[in-house]
Amino acid sequence: MTFDSLGLNAALMRAIAEQGYEKPTPIQQRAIPVVLAGRDILASAQTGTGKTAGFTLPLLQRLDSTRSGRRNGGVRALILSPTRELAAQVGESVTTYGRHLKLRSGVIYGGVKIGPQIRQLREGIDIVVATPGRLLDHASQGTIDLSMVETLVLDEADRMLDMGFIHDIRRIIKQVPKVRQTLMFSATFSKEIRQLADGLLRQPEKIDVSPRNTTVERIIQRVHPVAKDTKRALLSWLIDSNDWYQVLVFTRTKHGANRLAQQLERDGVISAAIHGNKSQGARTRALAAFKAGKIRVLVATDLAARGLDIERLPHVVNYELPNVPEDYVHRIGRTGRAGLEGEAVSLVCPDENGYLRDIEKFLGYKIPSEAIHGFERQVRVVAPETKSGPVEQLGRRGGQARNGKQRSNVRRGTKAVKRPGAQRHRGIAA
Ligand code: AMP
Repeated sequence: MTFDSLGLNAALMRAIAEQGYEKPTPIQQRAIPVVLAGRDILASAQTGTGKTAGFTLPLLQRLDSTRSGRRNGGVRALILSPTRELAAQVGESVTTYGRHLKLRSGVIYGGVKIGPQIRQLREGIDIVVATPGRLLDHASQGTIDLSMVETLVLDEADRMLDMGFIHDIRRIIKQVPKVRQTLMFSATFSKEIRQLADGLLRQPEKIDVSPRNTTVERIIQRVHPVAKDTKRALLSWLIDSNDWYQVLVFTRTKHGANRLAQQLERDGVISAAIHGNKSQGARTRALAAFKAGKIRVLVATDLAARGLDIERLPHVVNYELPNVPEDYVHRIGRTGRAGLEGEAVSLVCPDENGYLRDIEKFLGYKIPSEAIHGFERQVRVVAPETKSGPVEQLGRRGGQARNGKQRSNVRRGTKAVKRPGAQRHRGIAA
């Protein structure tokens, strides 16, 4: 199937060609005609499926074809996003795909000055991409008028609920007209999401193009069993010995993200952390530097990384496994995008084996496991004068076994691999 058969106008076709897209992705094939026809959608689609163009292209076309020539009218399309990063990225897509149309768009999120947003709104914006909190600030100050919204999009609705935005969303919905088009995207469908959908959508077309396992099929996944205190050394070693660039590393906590980025810096790996406590400016700068290849490793928490659109991201590392199996799929979905191959590596210490089992149960298969010689067991320093045999001095040299002995692997069925460079490697000490 080609874009020609989807009924998009010449201006949009031109923008698509300029992006180099040759054919529509499955979600685009399904969603574009339905949105063009003015119908509601309930779609199960994750980041990386092309869902943004799937709703943005037909949305732009509808707004363009019914343009009334108003200069200072209210907002005609409202796209709600869970995070600032996602809002910014969707805003960029709206600008990119709409560059040959005369529609105006703007992005509204917190953490930055409200003044410029107010000025932009005053001048008139057709399409607003917003995070719920700042949007409500504008609504309560009377600086945004949502009474003319024709289309409402809830992007990553499940994540918005996870982040506690349900009340904000309900307050926003009270301000948009009852008669409207509503498009809802969610990677997962909990009871809460279904309830929200039931209340918002009118006979929606249900689209499920990415059963969760097919999304990750293009991604080479691997588990490295590792002792807890040799994890960082293993990460540095993997980055260094494989010559990895543009590595997105996940930690569970903001504090853990900061600490790991600092430690990697000390190992000589240029790194930055991105999480909710960082100012918007710092997050934007870190992401831009990472995209530009100036930062080798971006350490992120799940929330900060959600929806990040980093093209051709080759490596994702789970430094700590998420305790929610769905988050594993979201994380590794950052690699292997738009038909490209990616690699997702998880460093799993013994106390995370339960999480690993849950993830494998969720995926429906076992992730191949490979122990890296010298990193898979606990650091143990045995005093030379004891009778217990050869001296084992592991930890401070990044956990390399010095006696060359190989112990049985931590996980059943794991394959031990002796890396040729492992014994020679230096420079990853704490
Ligand atoms: P999304 O799932 O919306 O975050 O999009 C994922 C990535 O796929 C983005 O980098 C888009 O630029 C890219 N993309 C979207 N549609 C297409 C297409 N039809 N062909 C190739 N790449 C696409």
